Amino acid sequence: MAPGHTHTTTMSTPGRPNTVRLVFLGAAGVGKSALILRFLHDRFEHKYTRTVEELHVLEYDTTGSGKMRLEVLDTSGSYSFPAMRELSIRHSDAFALVYAVDDPGSLEEVRRLRDEILELRGDKSAPITVVGNKADLKDSEGRVLLAADVMATVEGEWDANFVEASARTGGNTVGVFQALLQQVNLPHLSPTVRRRRDTMPRPAGKKRPPLKKHNSCVLS
Ligand code: GDP
Ligand code: MG
Repeated sequence: MAPGHTHTTTMSTPGRPNTVRLVFLGAAGVGKSALILRFLHDRFEHKYTRTVEELHVLEYDTTGSGKMRLEVLDTSGSYSFPAMRELSIRHSDAFALVYAVDDPGSLEEVRRLRDEILELRGDKSAPITVVGNKADLKDSEGRVLLAADVMATVEGEWDANFVEASARTGGNTVGVFQALLQQVNLPHLSPTVRRRRDTMPRPAGKKRPPLKKHNSCVLS
């Protein structure tokens, strides 16, 4: 990064001004890809497609901070790629740890992932939002995890954000992203904000937005 280049320290990885990366982790089948698909394209697919790893890139304008590049990393939830998972944990600004309300094992996986994140990153630099997905499911349809119980642990003991959502109905999927962005001190992304999916991410360093007040100088 050029000396004297400025950016707002609270909201992006050093060396990547105005870029924020959200990483979705969780057991296979909990609905990580479905949440991202719902948020980005307002669609839902019943068919299950396995993800290896997928990076979605959005650019959007904020009222206060000019243009932002938002990266959303969708992961596989598979143990076959521990090195990939470790990389994704190291290069993240905020984490969505997703479980499904009908799958207690997936909540155990969230617990394990949190431990791994804290170990790799240290307690202070790991903004975590725990997401209970498939909130559309009723008890009779297999829901076994209650929001109140999980919330008590996540907010009370872990000091992390907790939200329930349903990629299927779309319920609170925006809330998932708002919780994540709030943790990196970004303004809310309203669903009506112009969204554009970049299929060809631009090389870093070009066309950086002009920066406004309360920026600090970062030397790298
Ligand atoms: P991933 O492995 O975590 O990426 O999970 P997917 O997004 O591929 O979803 C796994 C399966 O769960 C698919 O069959 C989805 O249709 C289904 N699914 C995802 N989200 C929801 C949801 O909110 N409610 C219900 N009932 N099913 C969902
Ligand atoms: Mg997936």
